[in-house]
Amino acid sequence: KTTHFGYQEVPLEEKAGRVAEVFDSVAARYDLMNDLMSLGIHRLWKRVALERSGVRRGHQVLDIAGGTGDLTEQFVRRVGPKGRVVLADINASMLKVGRDRLIDKGAGAHVEVVQANAEALPFPDNTFDCITIAFGLRNVTDKARALASMTRVLKPGGRLLVLEFSKPTHPVFERIYDQYSFHVLPRLGSLIANDADSYRYLAESIRMHPDQDTLKSMMETAGLERVEYTNMTGGVVALHRGLKL
Ligand code: SAM
Repeated sequence: KTTHFGYQEVPLEEKAGRVAEVFDSVAARYDLMNDLMSLGIHRLWKRVALERSGVRRGHQVLDIAGGTGDLTEQFVRRVGPKGRVVLADINASMLKVGRDRLIDKGAGAHVEVVQANAEALPFPDNTFDCITIAFGLRNVTDKARALASMTRVLKPGGRLLVLEFSKPTHPVFERIYDQYSFHVLPRLGSLIANDADSYRYLAESIRMHPDQDTLKSMMETAGLERVEYTNMTGGVVALHRGLKL
């Protein structure tokens, strides 16, 4: 079976292995590529997520699929010395870059770094005030299982925030965006990281990800309430938020 872009679709049972290869391969250049690919706009998307997180001093926060720790770093500042921030990711290469970066920025001492799969989180029930998964859910093999696992470890009253590529709201915009991800991203990947394939995979995973309303109902099925989303950059990215009551 081929995908929208005409590539072989990765069978589900091979997906986790493929995702591991991609992030092992891009880890060292991930931050640079993020800035280039999004023209720096990912910083704004993350800032909105941070504002909507409601995280305050003393809170316990989990940044799952946290990669190189952009959001983690900001949460450390917010929770203060009595709070707790966990940076978790399935990929050791990404976590290593994240840990080194947090240490360089002076935030290393306040972060727990945990290698973990979002589908089976190694934390007790009702632990966190806030969980974020930024540009991570689309890489997870069993999204429903991951949403259920995140909901389980949230405290009652806690929030889950999902920041992810989504479906552009205007068809013309969608076509431009498709062209960008299909032509520009792999080319950038090949120029900067010498790895067109990984960036082709990333473009493909964006294309296949559930749209805004589908993700909203998946979050509701996982047991979250008052689920709402905000489109950013014309729906290129959406921020979903749900409460565990
Ligand atoms: N959150 C960071 C950011 O916004 O810059 C990193 C996002 S990066 C595109 C996606 C991350 O998801 C990678 O670090 C990858 O290893 C991680 N990931 C993929 N599948 C995962 C899973 N099942 N559980 C936890 N992390 C996963």
